[in-house]
Amino acid sequence: MMIQVLSEQLASQIAAGEVVERPSSVVKELVENAIDAGATTINIDVREAGRKSIQIADNGSGISAAEIETAFLRHATSKLREIEDLNAIRTLGFRGEALATVAAVSQLTIISRAAGEAYGTRLTLEGGIKVSRDTSGAPQGTVISVENLFYNVPARLKFLKSDQTEKRLIDDFVTRYALAYPQIRFRLTHNGRITFQSSGNGSVLDVLVAIYGPEVARQLLEIEPVETAQSASQHVRITGFAGTPAVHWSNRSHIALFVNGRWIKDNRLTYAVIQAYHTLLPTGRYPLAVLFLELPPEEVDVNVHPTKIEVRFRGDKAPFGAVQRVVRETLVADAPIRQMSAWNVGSQLEAMTPGWEGALDNHAFGRADAQPQTELGLTWADSEFEPTSENGQAGMSLGGEKLPIMRVVGQIGAAYIITEGPDGLFLIDQQAAHERILFDKYVGQWQASKVDIKTLSVGTAVTVSPTQADWITQQLPLLAEIGFQVEPFGPQTFMVRAVPELVSGEDAARLLLAMVTCVERPSNKPTNLAQFLIEVVSEHAAIRAGQSLTTAQMTQVVQQLENCADPMTDPQGNPTFIYLSVAQLAREFGRI
Ligand code: ADP
Ligand code: MG
Repeated sequence: MMIQVLSEQLASQIAAGEVVERPSSVVKELVENAIDAGATTINIDVREAGRKSIQIADNGSGISAAEIETAFLRHATSKLREIEDLNAIRTLGFRGEALATVAAVSQLTIISRAAGEAYGTRLTLEGGIKVSRDTSGAPQGTVISVENLFYNVPARLKFLKSDQTEKRLIDDFVTRYALAYPQIRFRLTHNGRITFQSSGNGSVLDVLVAIYGPEVARQLLEIEPVETAQSASQHVRITGFAGTPAVHWSNRSHIALFVNGRWIKDNRLTYAVIQAYHTLLPTGRYPLAVLFLELPPEEVDVNVHPTKIEVRFRGDKAPFGAVQRVVRETLVADAPIRQMSAWNVGSQLEAMTPGWEGALDNHAFGRADAQPQTELGLTWADSEFEPTSENGQAGMSLGGEKLPIMRVVGQIGAAYIITEGPDGLFLIDQQAAHERILFDKYVGQWQASKVDIKTLSVGTAVTVSPTQADWITQQLPLLAEIGFQVEPFGPQTFMVRAVPELVSGEDAARLLLAMVTCVERPSNKPTNLAQFLIEVVSEHAAIRAGQSLTTAQMTQVVQQLENCADPMTDPQGNPTFIYLSVAQLAREFGRI
């Protein structure tokens, strides 16, 4: 073959691979252009995960009729004039590649009207070649429709992932830009359905609520704006939010970093954030953090890669230390209260052991670390109360797995019910017991396909994040099956109309949110979703530790537990009670 210069079109198609890899890259580039154009409203409409069409409408400066064709030439930009300008980029774009490359691999229509012009211009291109041009009435701003992306580069189409993945990548970009530009109203629709929108009121926290829902947003700590001198020449200002250690995910994708309004990927800075959470999160879990770094533009090199998603920090090193420090300080500032109470319990225990109070305090709240209190000679039910073991030591027959008839003696630590059985003493964990009771009844009703429901006279509205909304929408039939009648009531809002009679005393919104958040945890992959949800609801509707009960209430709990088929444990497998036989008491008191 002869050596020839490639045609402009072919060169663009080849180059497209670097800038426009998938639908989300189109969204990213066009949203960046809208932001650079000073838009205050940006609407993104995506069809079929962007394969069919992507339309971005903004109310920015618009492109003048005289320049609109130039904008589609390769390396055509209004944002850079001289090589020196590269040293201090203040716009998101500067390479003049996006419009040319997007046009080269799609069928594109642009309608734009510049400020001060009477008409807009409509231009259509196919594979980067102009097809038509005319004037068109239009509001100030720009609307770009990208249809049939990669129609002329089928090889690219093969590399696209599932619709779900492509959609998620688009969501990621849009939500990140909404975070970086809270003063801009964003609206994202997939196949006509709004999946995300921000108000444009300037509050980053409000955007976070829109993304993650109110539950998660409550767990966010605002980072006090700090200005640190990274070195003599490098100053960095850091703001943002860090999640408390109570929220964590199985991957790093919820750590979002922005440098001068640009969402970036940087392994070192991400690692700095993770380091700040050192010892605070379970291993293999990652925090939620949204950090905005502000540096003089001349200290950041954004021209590292065509996608502009990596940056290089001039000066000596990335503001690694500064990031780690501010995040850690934010977490520690929030933590003293918790550390104090943990310490208190510890020292109390030391002072009181062995003693009922110390032993009980340790277990009153949270059972994760529940260990037998061996000093007391108390053993968890299974050693001495194992229904299958023929120990005969305590001389008590249990009659299968059923509990004997018991008499309520009292309550201790507002968490445990003390009862007397035929041959010993029972300490019943009121929360675990009630979870078991609710769960058994609830599952029973569900298996019989007749969950008693209570219609709420006024529905309860619940607002959730877009992903949570997706889940609820998918599971509406299942939710109804387990007694929750829920209706869509706006893009991310649902109305609970009826709840299971069994838990009707509880806040319906809280129960729905509990289910949604539990299924979100990647560790929770229930084989039987309905049963899992019933378990979650039972757990959240049960009497809590810390709740004082009247004798009548305690008697009710005890009687119902006696009637349970499997009274020994709660649905998660934690013991519902500790048993102390008369013989064991006698031993403890040195009588035998
Ligand atoms: P870059 O953003 O790197 O300059 P692009 O190819 O993305 O390159 O855009 C080329 C030029 O077209 C921009 O420099 C800008 O002047 C103009 N432009 C693109 N999109 C818009 C828009 N939405 N509103 C106003 N002007 C735009
Ligand atoms: Mg651009």
